[in-house]
Amino acid sequence: MKELRVNAARIESRIRELGEIGRNAQGGMDRTTFTPAELEAREWLKARLRELALDVRVDEAANIWARREAAARGRPVEGELPVIAFGSHLDSVPNGGRYDGALGVLLALEVMQVLRENGVETRHPFELVSFSAEEPNPFGLSTFGSRTVSGKLGRRDLEGVRDAHGTLLVDALRAAGGDPDRFEEARRRPEELAAFLEVHIEQGLRLLERGIPVGVVSAITGIYRESVTVVGEANHAGTTLMGNRKDALMAASEMMLAFEAACREHPSEETVGTIGTIENRPNAANIIPGEVRFHLELRGKTREEIGEALDAWAARAEAIAARRGVRLERKLLLDQHPVRMDPLVADVCAAEAAKLGYETLALGSMAGHDAAHMASLTRSGMLFVPSLGGKSHCPEEESRIEDIEKTANVLLQSLLALDDQLNR
Ligand SMILES: [Zn+2]
Repeated sequence: MKELRVNAARIESRIRELGEIGRNAQGGMDRTTFTPAELEAREWLKARLRELALDVRVDEAANIWARREAAARGRPVEGELPVIAFGSHLDSVPNGGRYDGALGVLLALEVMQVLRENGVETRHPFELVSFSAEEPNPFGLSTFGSRTVSGKLGRRDLEGVRDAHGTLLVDALRAAGGDPDRFEEARRRPEELAAFLEVHIEQGLRLLERGIPVGVVSAITGIYRESVTVVGEANHAGTTLMGNRKDALMAASEMMLAFEAACREHPSEETVGTIGTIENRPNAANIIPGEVRFHLELRGKTREEIGEALDAWAARAEAIAARRGVRLERKLLLDQHPVRMDPLVADVCAAEAAKLGYETLALGSMAGHDAAHMASLTRSGMLFVPSLGGKSHCPEEESRIEDIEKTANVLLQSLLALDDQLNR
């Protein structure tokens, strides 16, 4: 299948065409889930899929699936093989870009078209999927479609959920073709799937800065968050000598800089830390601060790496607290584990890219994706396309067609290689 290639001109024109649906006056994309624009994008996609004579189905969570049946491909078929699925999402954040999610769906569509035009048969059925509501949305349920398919969301989670205008999620879901009454039937069993592969834009600068056209994702980044309170002693800002103070804000400041240092010093550049909120009490010009609270967030591609940076910081923070005579209180808020992508899928992607003569980079996702949930069902992997300026979730979001074409060819060849190599 060496000669099979995607059609870059066709991909480019479809990026433009789909990019018109939900485009706002600032050139950004307003295609939040279940809005009229997003429903129009769904219709656009379904029409393209039907043109390819695929079996198009909208499941109970309003995910769009398009199936292409298997054929023997010259080999004896020992029973029916499970599905190789691939795709991403069509919804956007408010005033987002044309590539986040949509690119993965368009490249999946391109793969289906190339297979049809060339009469390629596969041993596994192939299914394109466009997941519902991947982005944070007015109903407060992100990665909605993939969480439902992987059995993490059920009917109960829909009950009483409304957006700010009072629209019920179940009504919005129905309008998109879903069925809240039979919601759990959208679940798929692990036996039904052989693999899942998603293409997405990187949304960072790692590929671009290295001049590498294709990223192979090794893990979906984990997120750890805690609330930290530093308790000192509020006192008179004039009559308390410097040596007698237990200034909570000065202690917290030192701890925050120690946190930055712990993250910078960590050997993995994908271990990143942020302190995004701070509260100072009583927050008055003539009172020494008595209590400071801040949120600390760490992201990394393994639990160990997150743990290492956290421990390095905690040891320093304790020492600072002891030296300054303040108390440190820590409360866990979120510990979302990193999800490893399947090594076999990643190896196949890297090998196919190498055969095509493209350099690849193994990297962590740094953001959440549908593939994280699909990984609990089946072997899953992701390919990243470089993002110009590292920009995403904004109108300036863009990727070069040369990089998109290369990644699309890697997707096509990797799906065929998985079809060859997987025997279940
Ligand atoms: Zn996305």
